[in-house]
Amino acid sequence: MKVIAFIEGIILTISCFFGSIFNLPDKNAQKLIERNGGVIYGVNHPNEQYDVLKDAGLGWVRFDIPYPYNAAGEISRSYLDFKARCKGYADNGMQVLAVTPYPKDYVNIGGFDPAADIEKTKEIAVFLYNDLKDITGGFQITNEMGLATFMYPLTLEEAATFIGVQLEAIDAAKKADKSDFMIGYNQANISASKDLNNLLKPYLKYCDYVGIDLYIGVQTNDKASDYAGRIKKLYRQVCRPIIVTEFGFWSEGGSKTEEEKKEILAYYGYASEEEAIADGMNFIAKLPQQFQNTLFYEFPGQEDQWAALVFSKCSGHFYGQTSDATLENVGFTPEGQAEYFRRVIPAMRKLNCVAGMIIYCCQDMPICWTCGQRWCPYETRWGILQLDGTPKPAYYAVKEVLTGTK
Ligand SMILES: [Zn+2]
Repeated sequence: MKVIAFIEGIILTISCFFGSIFNLPDKNAQKLIERNGGVIYGVNHPNEQYDVLKDAGLGWVRFDIPYPYNAAGEISRSYLDFKARCKGYADNGMQVLAVTPYPKDYVNIGGFDPAADIEKTKEIAVFLYNDLKDITGGFQITNEMGLATFMYPLTLEEAATFIGVQLEAIDAAKKADKSDFMIGYNQANISASKDLNNLLKPYLKYCDYVGIDLYIGVQTNDKASDYAGRIKKLYRQVCRPIIVTEFGFWSEGGSKTEEEKKEILAYYGYASEEEAIADGMNFIAKLPQQFQNTLFYEFPGQEDQWAALVFSKCSGHFYGQTSDATLENVGFTPEGQAEYFRRVIPAMRKLNCVAGMIIYCCQDMPICWTCGQRWCPYETRWGILQLDGTPKPAYYAVKEVLTGTK
């Protein structure tokens, strides 16, 4: 039995190696696409404009499942709200790719180590599967393990166990009710992801897909074809259908002029950076609460350095300034964002191993959640819809690429 599994594994690896070079059809990807009624096209952080999204060919949404219990061990209010939201999408003919909770939720709310108490972790995974299988289209087991903020407090090895045992438990539950419910995990485009994929090798057989979040050409000089290159590389590693679980581009960004920077300093009542730094904690107290929280968590116990850190490590956020490097020199403008989707979506969907792609994100945000400032593009200008829900040029570009109509 073991020998056969080993030989099967080798054949699969070779077929994916050549499959990635010659873009050969992938049986598992075809099966998944058929099961989903087509390639997944969707948005992250969705709003409830069902028809606007569906009109653009976006039938899927992706968002997080809150930890299902409160501290008293009862079903939590936020989990019930999540279920009501999922039902709204299901009733409107849309599907949800639901992201299971982060490790820290199990520690902070559940009060246990999810990589150590494996039986408890499995139990929750199976509960979520049974409770949500009829109102969601699939699960992503937690998000971007390998990135410290999301992985906290687990090590990469523990995070792989955390993902693996959930996949294993849900797979067993799926077999028991002969379900083809879609499950998988994702990764950020970082070097630790290769180690994560290696650690998860024993569990890949349970994965209907493997996901990757790609932000190539956002503050880096890259090409649309680099998206295809990175996806092929992952496909060779995991030999499973690939879903690009996040990708996107800012409609505003780039460097700021000295004049613009002076205006932002003046907004806080200073003529220069030196003046603000000299004002120390008085200056910090004028920043939005989110900015102060970020300093508190990222530089604990370094209060005397915070004012200087605002203009070194946090200066991008303070001025709302990003690198000018972009995908094929497309600008961080509403029209540039539209052009990004016109180039990147076709580059990805011509790959036979790709079973889906989910845009980051649906709608602009009023303030950056790192610095709390409305002029900071880092977390505010990803939307294909504006803050008020009206479409940007990117929305129409996506619609044209996906549906063929303007
Ligand atoms: Zn910011």
